[in-house]
Amino acid sequence: MESGSRSVAERCETEPCPAVGSPERSPVPAPLIRAAASDRPGRAPAARIYVPALSVVAVAVLLVAVGWSSRWGGTGFATSMARLRVVIVGPMTMAILAIILVVERLRPAQRRPLIARGHRQDLLYTILNASLVVPLVVALSLSFTTVAQRDLPWIVVPRLGFVPRWAAILLIFVAMDGCNWLAHLANHRLRVLWRFHELHHSQEDMSVLTVFRTHPLIHVSYLIALVPGVVLIANGAVPTALLVGYAGFVAFEHSNTNIGFGPLGRIFVSPNYHRIHHKLDGPQDVNLGFALTIWDQLFHRAVFPTEETIRTDTGLPGRPLIVEQAAVRPHHLSVLLAQLWGPFRPLDACDDTLDGQVGSRPFRAVDSARS
Ligand SMILES: [Zn+2]
Ligand SMILES: [Zn+2]
Repeated sequence: MESGSRSVAERCETEPCPAVGSPERSPVPAPLIRAAASDRPGRAPAARIYVPALSVVAVAVLLVAVGWSSRWGGTGFATSMARLRVVIVGPMTMAILAIILVVERLRPAQRRPLIARGHRQDLLYTILNASLVVPLVVALSLSFTTVAQRDLPWIVVPRLGFVPRWAAILLIFVAMDGCNWLAHLANHRLRVLWRFHELHHSQEDMSVLTVFRTHPLIHVSYLIALVPGVVLIANGAVPTALLVGYAGFVAFEHSNTNIGFGPLGRIFVSPNYHRIHHKLDGPQDVNLGFALTIWDQLFHRAVFPTEETIRTDTGLPGRPLIVEQAAVRPHHLSVLLAQLWGPFRPLDACDDTLDGQVGSRPFRAVDSARS
């Protein structure tokens, strides 16, 4: 079939797409073009919604149903929820976030207003995580663990007397970080997952709160990080305090701080290192590590910071997803709802910034009021 006779969406699947919304293409922001296109009457459902995104919803619903019917594998749901809440928004985590917010003012990578639009939007995501996302993640995690232990019992290694508990915990921790790296790579490689992950990359005013700017359903893709804990459960379990430290560390690397860790930045992910992953003019499939840079180095995906990259702009070229910085006046709640619907928007605007398409010139026409 001639490419000219194929739909734009079909061509998007196989060819690099032009940057909708780039200054020379159109003065109209991509979301408006998309809204106009998808509102046309008589269009097939597939043209109104990105159908593959429903598969992620289906997996989440299925997992929750399995967990519910098996009473969460006998694990107390309330206890697990209290534990995760401690990790995500407990007093220790909040104290760490508060300290980082101060450090952002003292040693910023980019100078910003005290409360930029991005901060307000990401605060909404923090509240969303603390309220609705915690029970969802607990339900998904307990269900996934139950299914793994019930249907794949052979993956559980029996107690190994010669392995000290601390060594097993360290192994779980490192393997968990590796699994997070792998899931993150999949988020950048598979369009259906990228649709859920691009929200995180859409932040143009990164701060420590950007760690919460994630689509609730993206956690489905990170369930694989539970596997090391299941495999070695008889030999040790990662203490909550260590998970709090991990969460705080991942939050810190999103901060607007000019910090690179010196020589330790070759091993641990620093804010200056992770900012390159969010770089506006990409590529964004580098520096995928959560805590350790070793995975990026092993797979030749590590780009270490330089003076030029420290103050780099972040976000998505062409603003394929509605962002709070785009409008003259930000309406944070309606932007939040639009962003949460983002994965399901139709593909016909050909606007995805999946790798290979990152690099188009950014559209920042309505960029005057940033506070
Ligand atoms: Zn990413
Ligand atoms: Zn990030």
